[in-house]
Amino acid sequence: MPNNSDLSSYLLEKIQQSTVEASLMEVCGTHTMAIAKSGLRSLVPPNIKLLSGPGCPVCVTAQGDIDAVIDLAARPGICLVTFGDMMRVPGTERSLQEIRGEGADIRVVYSPMDALKMAAGEPDKEIVFLGIGFETTAPAVAACVEMAAERRLTNFSVFSLHKVVPPALEALFSDPTVKVDGLICPGHVSAVIGLEPYMKLARDFHMPCVVAGFETMDVLQTIVMLLNQLEKGVAQAQIQYGRVVRPDGNPVALDLMSRVFAPSGARWRGLGEIPGSGLRLADNLSNYDARLKFEVPDYEDKEIKGCACGEILTGRLSPQECKLFGKGCTPLKPIGPCMVSHEGACAAYYRYTV
Ligand code: SF4
Repeated sequence: MPNNSDLSSYLLEKIQQSTVEASLMEVCGTHTMAIAKSGLRSLVPPNIKLLSGPGCPVCVTAQGDIDAVIDLAARPGICLVTFGDMMRVPGTERSLQEIRGEGADIRVVYSPMDALKMAAGEPDKEIVFLGIGFETTAPAVAACVEMAAERRLTNFSVFSLHKVVPPALEALFSDPTVKVDGLICPGHVSAVIGLEPYMKLARDFHMPCVVAGFETMDVLQTIVMLLNQLEKGVAQAQIQYGRVVRPDGNPVALDLMSRVFAPSGARWRGLGEIPGSGLRLADNLSNYDARLKFEVPDYEDKEIKGCACGEILTGRLSPQECKLFGKGCTPLKPIGPCMVSHEGACAAYYRYTV
C-alpha cells in the first residue's frame, strides 16, 4: 500500500513528464495559499503554468464598493460589523481601519451570527453586517437575515457584496486575451454549487474543470486529472475532492440562498460589471438591505495608481510582475487588496517566496 509521500512523488513525476503546454488557473484563496505554501510552482515543469484567478472575495471587491462601505461606516449611529480581512483594504482615500481610528464604530467578528446578537442586545444601534464572500459564506448570512426577520429585528441589515463564482468564470473565459487551459475549481464553493456550473463551462468553453481539495496531494492529483483531459483533447467536469463535494452540491444551502437573495449585477475588480454575479436581498426582505435602508450612493471605481491587482486577478500577470511587489507594497504596508487579504495572491507569493 503506497503512503501519501509515495503517492505525491508518483503524481509529481507524472506532472514533470507531461509535455502538454498548459496554463491552469485556481479560483480559490485557499488554493492560492496551498499552492504557494507547498512550493508547487517551482516543482512543475516550465510548460505548466499555475495561475491565480478571481478567487479571493476581498480582492475582487470593486474599489467603488469599498468606498460606499466606508461612507456608510463613517455615519453616526451606524455600527459596521465585518470580517477582519476588510479592515485594511484601502479605499480611495481611507480604509475602515483608519476611520475606526477616527471614532467610527466598526467591529470585527468571525461569524455573522455575532452581528445578530449585537442587534438584539443593542436596540438603539443600527447594526450593519458587511456581507463579503462567495457561495461559501452567503448561506450563513442568509440564515442570519431569516432569523432577524423571524425575530422582527429592525436594527439589523446587511450590506451585501456577496458574489457568485460561475458568471465571473464565464466572463473571464469569454475574454480572448485571457489564456487558461484548465480550471482548478474551488473546493468550498463547489461543496455548495455542485458540478453542474462546471459542466456548462466545460461544454461552452471547452474548459477542463476539476474540483480540488486543499492538501498538496489533492492539488497534484487535480493537475494530473487536468493534464489527462488536455492530452486526450476532452473537456469534462470532474471531482477530485469527492470526500466533501457531491455532484448536486448542497441543496439545503442553495435553497436558503434563493429564499433570501436575488441575483443582481456586481462589479468585480479586474473584470468590471458582470450581470447576475452578485447577490442582493430579495424584494420581500429589502428592509434588511443596508444600501437601500441608508440610501448609500454608488461610487465610481477609481484605480489605485501602480497596482496591478486587476491583471493578477485575471491571470494576466503574476504578483512578481507588479512593479510595486515587495518594494512599495508589502503585507505591512499594502497598496492593493491582493496584498492585504491573507488569501490574496500577492500576500501568498510574498509570504512564501520573498
Ligand atoms: Fe497591487 Fe501590491 Fe499586488 Fe502590486 S503587489 S498588484 S500594488 S497588491
